[in-house]
Amino acid sequence: MSQRKPLSGFRKDDNGVLWISNYVSNAKLKVNYKVNALLHYEQSPFQQISIVDTVAFGRMLVLDGTPQVSTYDGFIYNEMISHIPIVTHPNPKKVAMIGGGDCGHAREAMKYEGIEQIDVVEIDERVTELCREWLTPADGKDQRLTMIHRDGFDWIKEQKGSYDVLMIDRPDPVGPGKKLFNQEFYQYVFDALSDDGIVVFQSGSPFYNQSILRRTVNNLRPLFPVCRTYLVFIPLFPCGMWSFTLASKKYDPLQADLSKLQHQDTKYITPEIFLASFSLPKYVQELFEEKA
Ligand code: SAM
Repeated sequence: MSQRKPLSGFRKDDNGVLWISNYVSNAKLKVNYKVNALLHYEQSPFQQISIVDTVAFGRMLVLDGTPQVSTYDGFIYNEMISHIPIVTHPNPKKVAMIGGGDCGHAREAMKYEGIEQIDVVEIDERVTELCREWLTPADGKDQRLTMIHRDGFDWIKEQKGSYDVLMIDRPDPVGPGKKLFNQEFYQYVFDALSDDGIVVFQSGSPFYNQSILRRTVNNLRPLFPVCRTYLVFIPLFPCGMWSFTLASKKYDPLQADLSKLQHQDTKYITPEIFLASFSLPKYVQELFEEKA
């Protein structure tokens, strides 16, 4: 008789209230979110997917028991992974994202008229279908967008020198996203970019996931002349402070033309936030210093 796999990350308390937990194993830290309703659950070929309605964050996408994005604060992640590399590049035409989720980054990219092609490479078709159904219903088709349901690691090996901007919207290094942290992946990303291309990686918490951030920077620095980490504050994620790391073959985000920033209807990014996010606390800067 086949048995259904238990739903990871969820727990009912003594009063029958359902909670979803975000567990950070190396910090022995658990953040609990009170659940109003478990709206959907399934096991896809790649991961456990659930959609929950929570008290604090509205609807939430949960993969393998870990909260990924919420309707209340998803704008922060989506704006900060997309606008910064797009504005840093003077004339981006071809853009791709590895890791789709709710495709919020692609919607931000659509705000830039000069972009001609937006490819979203998401391994799990069910994630995009469920996000569309429960989190962010589609508002018309943008002809520039193509969804590619493939493993991003395999896909990027086939791309040679054609993308102006890449966004690596990877999850934690577990499950199908683990290979997006492999050392050779960084070289494939470099090869997939045009001669003046730019990439951004989700690079973890600078406080309790320092090894992820340090390894990301150490893998990128030998390849790219420009490598800069920036910070973003995402209430959904444990401790809130999170990092992205940008690597560029030519252009420096600190010299970007901020008049191009499409921030009329953003809720987080402004020209001031664009620049300020690159100011790092001393303990974060020290993570990247060469040891004598
Ligand atoms: N920030 C996202 C959002 O706003 O919805 C959450 C995306 S989550 C961090 C990462 C996404 O990457 C998941 O949708 C997952 O299915 C996808 N993914 C994991 N491994 C992948 C791989 N090897 N190739 C492509 N996509 C992958």
